[in-house]
Amino acid sequence: MSNKRFATKLVHGGFTPDGQTGAVNVPIYQTSTYRQKKLGEPTGGWEYSRTGNPTRAALEKLIAELEGGEAGFAFASGMAAISAVLMLFNAGDKILVSSNVYGGTFRVLDKVFTRFGLKYELVDSTKLNNIEEKIDSSVKAIYIETPTNPLLEITDLRGVAEISKKHGILSIVDNTFMTPYLQRPIELGIDIVVHSATKYLGGHSDLIAGLAIVANGTGLADRLAFIQNSTGGVLQPFDSFLLIRGIRTLGVRMDRHVSNTEKIVSYLINEPAVNRVYYPGHPSDPGYSLNLTQASKGGAMLSFELAPGYSPEKFLENLNLIMLAESLGGVESLVCHPASMTHASIPADIRKKIGISDGLLRLSVGIEDADDLIDDIKQALEASGR
Ligand code: PLP
Repeated sequence: MSNKRFATKLVHGGFTPDGQTGAVNVPIYQTSTYRQKKLGEPTGGWEYSRTGNPTRAALEKLIAELEGGEAGFAFASGMAAISAVLMLFNAGDKILVSSNVYGGTFRVLDKVFTRFGLKYELVDSTKLNNIEEKIDSSVKAIYIETPTNPLLEITDLRGVAEISKKHGILSIVDNTFMTPYLQRPIELGIDIVVHSATKYLGGHSDLIAGLAIVANGTGLADRLAFIQNSTGGVLQPFDSFLLIRGIRTLGVRMDRHVSNTEKIVSYLINEPAVNRVYYPGHPSDPGYSLNLTQASKGGAMLSFELAPGYSPEKFLENLNLIMLAESLGGVESLVCHPASMTHASIPADIRKKIGISDGLLRLSVGIEDADDLIDDIKQALEASGR
């Protein structure tokens, strides 16, 4: 598939029709183990489904092809994928982390991995100097999200890759918000990409899954395979099948997600009830130009702050179509209140410092008709003015 264009890889990657039956989709190999004909001679190389399963393997091959990596690994959730990647490090190592990183990533570092001696420090990675200043001999990796969640700030991926190579440390990018359809960090020099595949890759809000992809020549593939098999948080065969099914339509879904978002942003920017809109796909956004050097579009996540006098609670209560829910990236539009939902695990003082105000709302724009979404926002804004 390496010589094919991206939309073709989405549809055909990871699997060639089954030799026995001609099935055009990978079967769900719902099996925990495999018959061995002789001692030490497992059929087709499969031994036990924690170690490897053909349905999961098709997904892992597909995501490695899409992100341009050497190998992909599928996990039971995004957090399981992120945790497996963090297990590459040792007690005493320090990781520099984007300050607006997903709350669950912050939590697992702060409350779990620090107990095993892993250290972390939050940095505003939008300014490369901030990263470089903090590098000392204990720093072993830079972990970033671009755009960040929920303020959608952009970090220079090529710059991060360069710094990490210069200092001989790893660069890790959570590519959940952009997906490989819009942004491929490994092609820009990043070492490891992680995903909450629960989001756009699955695409239908019916699955929890995570992926990790390692770049060629890093020597990380065997190490991560070992961690995946040793700690065991693997994605099940049926969920692997669902995720492949989701990925097949990623391109057409993302095109619609993005065009809907652009229409909503154009409306919100001129809406007096809205104070500020955060969206890296709009020319007025500080991250716009940089984003276009590393991603093909601005994605389909946006955040906005209501103008004084408008109540976020009333706005949320009055939405009819857009649902108040955690998560993002599904075909249906979802709204969330980061301060009390996705980022509640970040202490209030840190939240304030990094700019997540109590009036901030985050929208995951779905693939409905854009005008219906705008009508819904409009009427909820009208009802939320005091
Ligand atoms: N990374 C990002 C950017 C996320 O938004 C999330 C979940 O919301 C995660 C990681 C964690 O993924 P999961 O919920 O699949 O464990």
